[in-house]
Amino acid sequence: MNSNMANTILVGAQWGDEGKGKIIDVLTEEADVVVRTQGGNNAGHTVYDGPKKYVLHLIPSGILRKGRKNVIANGVVVDPIGLVNEIKGLQKLGVNPKGRLFVSETAHVVLPYHRELDAQREVLKGQNKIGTTKRGIGPCYGDKAARVGIRMVDLINLKRFQEKLELRLKENNEVLRALGAKPLSFKRVHADYAKAARFLKPYVTNTVVLLHECMRRGESMLFEGAQGTFLDIDHGTYPFVTSSNTSAGGACTGSGVPPHRMDRVIGVMKAYTTRVGEGPMPTENDEISDLLHGMGREFGATTGRARRCGWFDAVATRHAAMVNGIDDLAITNADGLDTVENIKVCIGYRDGKKRYDHMPSDHEVLNRVKPIYAEFEGWRKPLDNVRRWKDLPAKTRQYLRAISDLTGARLAIASVGPARCQTIFV
Ligand code: GDP
Repeated sequence: MNSNMANTILVGAQWGDEGKGKIIDVLTEEADVVVRTQGGNNAGHTVYDGPKKYVLHLIPSGILRKGRKNVIANGVVVDPIGLVNEIKGLQKLGVNPKGRLFVSETAHVVLPYHRELDAQREVLKGQNKIGTTKRGIGPCYGDKAARVGIRMVDLINLKRFQEKLELRLKENNEVLRALGAKPLSFKRVHADYAKAARFLKPYVTNTVVLLHECMRRGESMLFEGAQGTFLDIDHGTYPFVTSSNTSAGGACTGSGVPPHRMDRVIGVMKAYTTRVGEGPMPTENDEISDLLHGMGREFGATTGRARRCGWFDAVATRHAAMVNGIDDLAITNADGLDTVENIKVCIGYRDGKKRYDHMPSDHEVLNRVKPIYAEFEGWRKPLDNVRRWKDLPAKTRQYLRAISDLTGARLAIASVGPARCQTIFV
């Protein structure tokens, strides 16, 4: 891996929660700079360092390794109060982000009215709700696109922040009233955010210039994706998606690092499929859901919600390999299938007489297609103590190779447990 590190984009090849946090953590050993380029604190990476468990929402995982620079770039939406809490939480665990964490001046700020609107809109949608985490991420990106957002550079200029907040609260309180919700108090919001602004000011900088300076010095960069390809606002199962580009292209627009400076794309996927929230998921299956939940697995890091589970969907991951340009694959959670006798893999979809070898764009069609399965014999042995590729059971190797081939990318990493040491380089 080492000589290949260069500038690497890491993306989730499914619906998020692929175990990116762990793979990113392993790869940060080789990277000088770790960059977050989209999403907000609706994401949650879980990283274990020995017995210590860290759940990171906004701060890149490179913060857990000495000497790494960590950048929250322009494409991210920042909840300043959440970020302050995350920094303080790390400091309590003995990790100090000072001087190693840089937040873009042009990242947009998530405000309480974004969260309120998120919740109210979801209530209005009733049965058609999209399953948002209600962290205000969607409405914040909405304001960004409507050109009425407040950016970090505005937040740390307290006079300007006050003016902008007054204006924005006036409009948003009207909307909240119309939706039957309580308006927000300017005094309260201003006081909380001004406090966070003072705390965060030393971290806020021009991260585009910073990243290009790093590149000039030959430092290698890891762009850590949040969520997954099928939650991408353009390429995901719209409207059951997040509000940003979670696929590889988002790493460029979200950071100001041009496409031709990216050297490699790694896709992370589970050995099966999971999804949180609403929306189509062709291989969803009760048997595997019950099995994984029974093992105490597949509960969300941010929300605690039980994830929907299903068999591996190679139609979906093939699509992910295409839109992201995935070179290498990291397959996680192979150990989740340790006890399964016959493992199914979806190799196509059927809708009546019509067969699909690619994902249909119409979510109603995707909702009703039936998976066409290939079957693999399970290995029925625990994998958690295996540390080398050649020590994996032959049936595991066969299965992992098969799902990589069906996806159309090289298998580079297999993960057999949450710990750093449970990572096998192929
Ligand atoms: P992310 O959103 O893609 O970063 O996903 P998370 O970091 O939340 O990972 C989901 C969960 O899977 C976390 O609790 C990880 O520690 C755990 N995890 C990651 N890889 C493996 C693996 O190979 N086996 C097991 N058992 N757990 C894993």
